[in-house]
Amino acid sequence: MLVGRQKRAGHLGLARSNRVRTAADVAHRQRLGAGNVARMHTGFHPFTNAVENDCLFAYESRCKAAFDKIEPVLREIAQFQHDSNFIIKAQELARLLLNLELPEHLLENTWIAPLEMGKLYAWCVFETFRLFADEFYSDKPLAQESDADFQHFIESCGFHTVDFSPCADGRLAHTISYVLRLPYKGVRRKSYAGAMFDVEDSLQKWVEVEHRRLSESLPNSASEPTRYLKAAVYHYSSSLPGQEGCAAHGSDAAKAAEGAMSRLLAFQQGVQNSFCCGASIDLMLIGIDTDNDAIRIHCPDASGNPDGENYIDAQAVYDATRHANPADSERIISELIEQKSSAASREDNRGLVKFMARLLFNNISQIDYVRNNFNGCYSDIGHQERFIGMGVGFEEVQLRNLTYFAYLKTVEQNATDVDVGIKIFTGLNIKRGLPAPVVIRYDYHGNVPGARERAVAKVHCLQQAMAARFPEQTQQGLIHTMLVVRDCSADNSIEVVGGSTQPGVTGGGH
Ligand SMILES: [Zn+2]
Repeated sequence: MLVGRQKRAGHLGLARSNRVRTAADVAHRQRLGAGNVARMHTGFHPFTNAVENDCLFAYESRCKAAFDKIEPVLREIAQFQHDSNFIIKAQELARLLLNLELPEHLLENTWIAPLEMGKLYAWCVFETFRLFADEFYSDKPLAQESDADFQHFIESCGFHTVDFSPCADGRLAHTISYVLRLPYKGVRRKSYAGAMFDVEDSLQKWVEVEHRRLSESLPNSASEPTRYLKAAVYHYSSSLPGQEGCAAHGSDAAKAAEGAMSRLLAFQQGVQNSFCCGASIDLMLIGIDTDNDAIRIHCPDASGNPDGENYIDAQAVYDATRHANPADSERIISELIEQKSSAASREDNRGLVKFMARLLFNNISQIDYVRNNFNGCYSDIGHQERFIGMGVGFEEVQLRNLTYFAYLKTVEQNATDVDVGIKIFTGLNIKRGLPAPVVIRYDYHGNVPGARERAVAKVHCLQQAMAARFPEQTQQGLIHTMLVVRDCSADNSIEVVGGSTQPGVTGGGH
């Protein structure tokens, strides 16, 4: 549940009164209950949280508008680059329309050399992202139910950790906060092209989690019979299945599901073979229709693992519960799941079914979100990302089609993810002469000695590897980079430590 707070005007300079939820709103809503609030808005499903939808839409619109204004404003600025008072005029426009102070080193000498529009464009995208991140960490616009409440809920389903790997496609970047309406701090999210997650990385995380349970009893004691839930999220497009599905799987939904499933099974097997406790892992396979954000969750088979062929569709749940009482939602949805899968009614799958029911319930709000704000289908059903995010981190990016993710520690090992990203941005930007803006990022734990220095060295290393992999585009200034690190233990915002748009750097730089 979103809990907004009254704030001063945001860094991004736009009114945010729409998303603010006052204490009176909260109290009013608690009195009414989610279902009654939904019924106040004609046409909403009784399970829909309409107030939350309004808050989420205001946040999404405001943030995306800040990025989308950059190109038209720079077009306007470009028109008078030969005027004698160019810098003054450019700054006035940038302040007024973008809420940014442009860097003087990119505006000087335009009487003799053409303005480096590509570089200026990349700088504006980076600066807008920096302000977006600052706001996210200082104002917490997507703050949700407390971590303790969510932890209590997942433990009631028999889990101690929930670990999601969606596809890196920007159309899935809002999977946690919007599509599934889960608190972003309460779940782990690591994105990979085609949801083909790194099995070793997940194994390492599993070891960390189990060690912490043993040594610190966090998030719960190792003696509790709870399990680690690993979920993979693939995607497809119902309106243009052959074109707008998952690029990493040739736009084939069945292949995308099979690919994600193969990694899930490899992870489960990996834990079993390495630690003799594969039974402590539960698996979940989820598909998202990127046209309208409706999910499908694969039902458990006889072994409790997701059945590749048998799934329950949130749209069907939406239709079947159109006149149901929200108070009965968990029971009704659980029964619908059990109708689809006999294994779902087995005692050892009860927790999994309860969690599935929560996801399907939450997704009903998102189906109405797309219905009401986008007429039931996004206008940007294809790629429309604003920048590439590469490295480790990006917790603040919870919006659809804002960022293409490449979660990686080295460019070489995850070359596919990087190549897919550059391919997408070749279509979006490079073909039009605009650079692909790449934010290279490495989060670190500030309580580990030397961690910041290693993170800084890492982002420089990743920048060099990018320049080596795409020498032409880098040379021609068609790929620009911003290097950032973040102390994730301190809950701080990002820190910019370098990049190709900084003073004294030519071309795409490295
Ligand atoms: Zn994909």
